[in-house]
Amino acid sequence: MFVISERQILHADLDSFYASVEQRDDPRLRGRPIAVGGGVVLAASYEAKAFGVRSAMGGREARQLCPKLVVVRPRFEAYVEASKAVFAIFNQTTPLVEGISIDEAFLDVTGLHRVSGSALEIATKLRLEVREHVGLAITVGVAPTKFLAKVASGVAKPDGLLVVALGGELDFLHPLPVERLWGCGRVTSAKLRERGVLTVGDVAAIEERALVAMLGRASGRHLHALANNRDPRPVHVGRRRRSIGSQRALGLRRLSLDDIDTAMVGLVDRVCRRLRNAERVCRTVVLRLRFHDFSRITRSHSLARPSDATDAILDTARGLLAIAAPLIHNGGCSLVGISLTNLGNADDPFQLELPFGARPLGRIDRAVDGVRAKFGTAAITRGVLLGKEQGMTVPMLPD
Ligand SMILES: [Mg+2]
Repeated sequence: MFVISERQILHADLDSFYASVEQRDDPRLRGRPIAVGGGVVLAASYEAKAFGVRSAMGGREARQLCPKLVVVRPRFEAYVEASKAVFAIFNQTTPLVEGISIDEAFLDVTGLHRVSGSALEIATKLRLEVREHVGLAITVGVAPTKFLAKVASGVAKPDGLLVVALGGELDFLHPLPVERLWGCGRVTSAKLRERGVLTVGDVAAIEERALVAMLGRASGRHLHALANNRDPRPVHVGRRRRSIGSQRALGLRRLSLDDIDTAMVGLVDRVCRRLRNAERVCRTVVLRLRFHDFSRITRSHSLARPSDATDAILDTARGLLAIAAPLIHNGGCSLVGISLTNLGNADDPFQLELPFGARPLGRIDRAVDGVRAKFGTAAITRGVLLGKEQGMTVPMLPD
């Protein structure tokens, strides 16, 4: 039999990430209920969560629940920087890191006992380092499977550490409410509760066939496996993001095509820099536009060969904007987004398209990136962007 119980997996998850960064950077916000966002809550501090404030909740509802709520505008660059610092610590801990989101990852520390100590020692050190070097609280769950490690960190939050002992997996899992199971959302949970299935142990006691009849094939099988702690998925190293994107809210002003182009140029600059920093190339450029009536369109085009050159990508984006132009009625465009997808590695052999190492554009891009890395993003800008207000950068929603 394939033995999976010897694996040691950490699920490390920063607590109330955006809100914690804000509290870290502004002492006046510490100990107070805060929400990051505006119209919609993107993240709530634990003090706000105590009042029932949750992410994705409308700002108004949040204020009703918690009249003393302090609402803070998001600073995504600060979050990206904090995330990078935390991932650097993950990568020092083990080469087997699978990032799941900006503030969460699985780390496989199997076999590191001799080098780094027990999984408990590794997790303890990781938490200390994140606290010391980044100033944030991170919760870690340790278990033989990814699923269980994630459940453990969920139970241990906030600022906690929980190790599920070998052999103790089912004892830990079965008393938990069904909602702790991955993929048990509101609908599934309601179906289960209706039938008196309240705990993970209750789910485990049901035959797979009966669970499939209750929830459908995929969901039934999935929950049956998890409730019995069958989760053989390995930690995927280098499972990297599939797209890089950025978008900008343009407000309610009437905009000319030139204005939209200006915003788009800024976005292309930004995503191309991120693409090159990640040492990746892209094949497909996606343009998204949203209009004042909330309708939206998406247009995409694939390059002849993968590229990380701002000029090639900007040309493609401009082509897409030209195609979309007839649909931009009365300048009623409220959001523009650019995503780069079909990503590959910059060092893949197909990159060697130009003989003699001649990549003049690449060298200009890299020089610009270098100046910006040293002197800040505003140090160099395109002529077209000078003195232009480019709108507020808003977070990318998953595709
Ligand atoms: Mg988190």
